[in-house]
Amino acid sequence: MIKAKGYAALSAKAPLTPYSFERRDPKDHDVVIDIKFSGICHSDIHMARDEWGFGSPFPMVPGHEIAGVVQAVGPKVTKFKVGDHVGVGCMVDSCRTCVNCKQELENYCIPGNTMTYGSMERDGSAVTQGGYSNIIVTNEDFVLNIPKSFPLDKAAPLLCAGVTTYSPLKHWKAGPGKKVGVLGLGGLGHMAVKYAVAMGADVTVISHSDKKREDAKRFGAVNFINTKNPEVFTEYAVSFDLIINTVSSADLDMASLFGLLKLDGALVNVGAPEKPMSVNVFPLILMRRTFAGSAIGSIKETQEMLNFSAEHQIMPEIEVIAPDQVNAAYERVLKSDVRYRFVLDMAKL
Ligand code: NAP
Ligand code: ZN
Ligand code: ZN
Repeated sequence: MIKAKGYAALSAKAPLTPYSFERRDPKDHDVVIDIKFSGICHSDIHMARDEWGFGSPFPMVPGHEIAGVVQAVGPKVTKFKVGDHVGVGCMVDSCRTCVNCKQELENYCIPGNTMTYGSMERDGSAVTQGGYSNIIVTNEDFVLNIPKSFPLDKAAPLLCAGVTTYSPLKHWKAGPGKKVGVLGLGGLGHMAVKYAVAMGADVTVISHSDKKREDAKRFGAVNFINTKNPEVFTEYAVSFDLIINTVSSADLDMASLFGLLKLDGALVNVGAPEKPMSVNVFPLILMRRTFAGSAIGSIKETQEMLNFSAEHQIMPEIEVIAPDQVNAAYERVLKSDVRYRFVLDMAKL
């Protein structure tokens, strides 16, 4: 076994604390990764506090925005070599046999993919532990190649915030001639804006205050709506082809937001609030609108997103911090006091 150290939540009520544990020795197709940077996703907070009621297993080392360097490879690894820059996102395995896995959509694996942390390995050997740590051992099929020109600290958030927004924008065909709204300008939201702009869409940020108006413009949005002003729902009624909802709370006036969509428009939830959302279906019925959801992205799509990010020089705005600041960072994420993603510098562990 390989000795590992990191930060773990020992229970849903406890702050994260230094933690020592073990990783498996590399199997034939495993890649051993020296973790350099690990992003803090709002999902880590939902999981570490068991807010989704999944019955999160503890101790839990969160982290699914992992960027690092290959330290060793198993004897049958063909995709990576020592020294490569690589990433690991939200999943580390899947059943590989269901209809969705067969179509390279492991993120929608029917029995459920193996999450990077908080899942039982498929062979039942251990509960997975995530990226707030110095080392990880991952099957090569779930490891991504990070172009060497791309800074590793800025690559980390792409592994979740990047692909989770890139995927629905591609699926719902954001591009020239399309009006796209991005609801919530946090870690995911600011990536959604950058990708939608790069894809050629006309992008509007829909926020609940004016605080991020200037940033939205800087990221390429042509318009900014503050929903605290009720008149915007009349002014912008029936005007968007697509709205990506990245808000972490269920406390939203969904009926008014649906009203912003054109005929056949779609509002896609990537935000995963702990409480159920209440939906009045009439605004959906009246304009044949769609209310949809989307989960991260496939491995193939994650690689495509990394290549697209390198080609278009799309990078997240990050604040790099030492791992011992993780608990303070969680509190700041909850107060929206980060522009726009915390990244843990694992060399400071
Ligand atoms: P984040 O950085 O905290 O951003 C969330 C944003 O939501 C904040 O910027 C905040 O905007 C806005 N917000 C919070 N409460 C609001 C309210 N009541 N009304 C309007 N806006 C509100 O979080 P994140 O890391 O981007 O994650 C966002 C959500 O996506 C989380 O629920 C996370 O679990 C989920 N997620 C889902 C997937 C997936 O596969 N579907 C993947 C990753 C994450 P202000 O700054 O303006 O307050
Ligand atoms: Zn995430
Ligand atoms: Zn499957």
